[in-house]
Amino acid sequence: MKVYGDYHTHTLDSDGLNTIDENIAAAKKRGLFEIGITDHAHYRPRNKKKRKENALMAKAQVLRSGQAYDIKAYYGIECNVVGMDGDIDVSSEERKLYDYLVCGIHVSVQPKKFWQLFTYYIPNMFWFALRQMGINWTPKSLIRKNTKAVVNVIEKNNIDILSHPNRYFRVDVIEVAKACIARGTAMELNNKKVSFRPVDFERMAAMGAKFVIDSDSHKAENIGRMDRVGNFLKLCDYDPSCILNLDQPFVRPKAKLLDQIVKAVNEKKS
Ligand SMILES: [Zn+2]
Ligand SMILES: [Zn+2]
Repeated sequence: MKVYGDYHTHTLDSDGLNTIDENIAAAKKRGLFEIGITDHAHYRPRNKKKRKENALMAKAQVLRSGQAYDIKAYYGIECNVVGMDGDIDVSSEERKLYDYLVCGIHVSVQPKKFWQLFTYYIPNMFWFALRQMGINWTPKSLIRKNTKAVVNVIEKNNIDILSHPNRYFRVDVIEVAKACIARGTAMELNNKKVSFRPVDFERMAAMGAKFVIDSDSHKAENIGRMDRVGNFLKLCDYDPSCILNLDQPFVRPKAKLLDQIVKAVNEKKS
């Protein structure tokens, strides 16, 4: 089993340890055919003009290094769920600068609306901290809240890849998978840690969810690695075609919701 491309990697532009050029060179060395640079949105300059300049410079570097190492290189971004209302920290105008959009929840990013600090962020941080100490429990009401937050983001935005679902703030992955299937968003099998159970993965795959294996590497040497995901998959019974970047380039899954709309329109016409 080998991934064709790694679509989630970090560089010095956020909290990664290597340059864009080093990441792309490492992907080639690993034998990949495609690589995506997806630094964190919350590390980008706040100033709109500076942010754009920074992105254009990085993108030019991605193209240069891709050419130099003869590998298809993409420039994306990993943005954030910033609260419960479906907001992310990349505007639709800024979105045009990137080849694709990865989105996830990160503990260092606070909600956009102040009061959600108390209703959403702090309760999650509390249970997250306990989890780090080995107490693995989250109240059901909070899981429902988080699930709604992630579903809202998927429904309101064009997210290509949902990064590390269920890692930091707990969600109901089955409900999240339903939204991803409807919108054509791939769910990530993150090689740092897969945060759902084999039984849930099997159920999501059987429902029609699509997945992409990513390293989420912050060090170039980890690019293209899928050892942990591989060990997880050994425990699962699934159809490998649900994983989109095994021996083939990642293409965003078809949105089932769109299919239904087109079908309904056609039925109305005839
Ligand atoms: Zn992340
Ligand atoms: Zn990441």
